[in-house]
Amino acid sequence: MSVQETSNQENAAKRTPRIAVIGGGMSGILTAIKLQEAGMTDFTVYEKAASLGGTWRENTYPGLCCDVPSHMYRYSFEPNSEWSHRFSPGAEIMAYFDGVAKKYDIEKFVKFNSEITCARYQNGKWHLESGDETLDVVDIIVSAAGVLHKPVYPDIDGVDNFAGAVFHSARWNHDVPLDGKRVGIIGTGSTAVQITADIIDRVEHLSLFQRTAQWIFPQENPEFSEKEKDVFRNIPGAMDDLYANLTNLFASTFGEAVIGDEEQMKLIQDACRANLEDSVQDPELRARLTPDYQAACKRLIVSDGFYAAIQKPNAELVTDQIERVEAGGVRTKDGRLHELDVLVLATGFDGHSFMRPMELIGKDGLNLDDFWADATPAHRSISLPGFPNYFMLVGPNSPIGNFSLIDISERQLAYVMQLIDLWRGGEVNEISAKQESMETFNATIKDAMKDTVWVTGCQSWYLDKNGNPAMWPFSFGKFCEDMTAPNLDEFDLVS
Ligand code: NAP
Repeated sequence: MSVQETSNQENAAKRTPRIAVIGGGMSGILTAIKLQEAGMTDFTVYEKAASLGGTWRENTYPGLCCDVPSHMYRYSFEPNSEWSHRFSPGAEIMAYFDGVAKKYDIEKFVKFNSEITCARYQNGKWHLESGDETLDVVDIIVSAAGVLHKPVYPDIDGVDNFAGAVFHSARWNHDVPLDGKRVGIIGTGSTAVQITADIIDRVEHLSLFQRTAQWIFPQENPEFSEKEKDVFRNIPGAMDDLYANLTNLFASTFGEAVIGDEEQMKLIQDACRANLEDSVQDPELRARLTPDYQAACKRLIVSDGFYAAIQKPNAELVTDQIERVEAGGVRTKDGRLHELDVLVLATGFDGHSFMRPMELIGKDGLNLDDFWADATPAHRSISLPGFPNYFMLVGPNSPIGNFSLIDISERQLAYVMQLIDLWRGGEVNEISAKQESMETFNATIKDAMKDTVWVTGCQSWYLDKNGNPAMWPFSFGKFCEDMTAPNLDEFDLVS
């Protein structure tokens, strides 16, 4: 049974739900736009911080940019002819989201500095609390809380004893000068690589503490010329064509490689290996930079500046493991003290928290922490049995590692909007996935995961505590197809 069969234009406008959107990042802004477009204005976006932007507000580290091409990393309905680079800097992306939010007049719906600490389902409504205060009572929650928002701090002795400045990459302290300083970076993920390439010429000395080497896919980042921008500005459809081409390219190459296309994976692996061999001259350094696992098992890093940076005379790749942090710097297990003025913890995020630490209490007191005690199952990444009218964007097993997250979020929201329309129709008061549907979905996911690169033997933030990647093991085409319309047989619909 499909939504189209049970709902129609006539009944879709019968009643107006009160809706809470949790989070004012990319997905929250999107939801606010689409709710208005659908004629629903009785909603509030709850944002824990003082401004919109989510990950692009929180991450301001030097060198920040998006490794998805800018003309693909944008709302489908808001092309931007002014992107400066193929991969534009973080501040430009933040300005893009600000501009879109202003254009659609989103801020009037946003309650800033309002972290929802608990959402409790009682008598057919969601009660939203912030500390001791009840902020709202709503019919529907759209959780747009994001994925990588909870920084992971390393479990290393002595970090608090460091006499210089120490901060996580997502909590960058811009008051701390870097010029002429001795800077240490712990971590070699996308973040550390971008910081390294950006700051190397400013610092006196950079120590990059590598626990695991990373594969790096070479990718130039040219500026768009005025001539190119003129094409985007003046030729109707030029940006949409580029968007479609980039999406198809990603889907048919990288998107297929990570889920088992050996030919595509070989091209990626070969490109990474050639990049390393062509870029790093010293065989000893090259050996230390060579990973012992398959490319793209961890999130593949894209950079055209890292290898050059790490070979500069003021750069040092430290592969001796860290013993502890002391007042003067980082001591490695070989006994050496790496003296530092600034220590950056580019140690990543907990990719399995989703909307937590918010407490979520569903029907009959069902607590999400119990429901997700061992893993984070969800039906089609969106709905949870026992948590009616609670819908997630970019929830567990979304295709976060393969494609533009904005496209993913748009498609999930279009699916959610069809469920909301069902509620609006008046015949259904509670919508939540059936337990057995979720179990079938998750069993299918688990089975398909066996063919993916993410389980080929590396440690990454994709893996949950059981070693299962919270990823999408199918093609982009299948995701699009699955998101076209909800199959209502998969849902408990209570009138
Ligand atoms: P990450 O990929 O999780 O990398 C964390 C790094 O810290 C790893 O090198 C890890 O080593 C190291 N580490 C963690 N704990 C450590 C410890 N106790 N001792 C020593 N090393 C430790 O984090 P990230 O670089 O912040 O990137 C996270 C994700 O954000 C990316 O995968 C990507 O999805 C997203 N991101 C995207 C962009 C973009 O351009 N779109 C840019 C930045 C980030 P191990 O490898 O040994 O675990």
